[in-house]
Amino acid sequence: MVVSGIKDSLKQQGVRLTRQRQILLDLIDQSGQHLDADRLYQLARLKDPKLNRVTVYRTLKLLKAGGLVDELDLMHHEGDQHYYETRLKQEHAHVICLRCGKVEEFFGEPLQRLRKQIESHFGFQVLLARTEVGGYCAHCQTLRAREVEELKSRPVTPAKRAAAPKRTRSQRG
Ligand SMILES: [Zn+2]
Ligand SMILES: [Zn+2]
Repeated sequence: MVVSGIKDSLKQQGVRLTRQRQILLDLIDQSGQHLDADRLYQLARLKDPKLNRVTVYRTLKLLKAGGLVDELDLMHHEGDQHYYETRLKQEHAHVICLRCGKVEEFFGEPLQRLRKQIESHFGFQVLLARTEVGGYCAHCQTLRAREVEELKSRPVTPAKRAAAPKRTRSQRG
């Protein structure tokens, strides 16, 4: 469905869709996730072992320049990594958990409203809007609350510390 749209756009731009480019396109389009170049490379290699990193980077650059793929940093929750997703998806905001790295997509009407407000306020023509929200997911909030409790209950004086049960680090691998 969406892939045919990408193919048409590429054809219009005179870009030849080689087999390897097709593999990468399909991966970005079908994963529904936000994959970084390295992950894309690994997945693509499963389909074509001859595919190399240079092709991955070149193809991403090509798709980005063609406005078919969006490059995201997702609040740099994993450092300098960049992530890729299809531009053919409806506009959405990314909600990123800064603890576990989970990424949710918010497709809400307020995004369209914001775009319209910016256009009328500045007389600006919006071509691309990227909204990122960072914080803690419900699961991580629970874990963090527990961690804080553990820190509070941890004995502070040396005498008490000796009485506390020993942590067996080796068992945790
Ligand atoms: Zn989380
Ligand atoms: Zn997304």
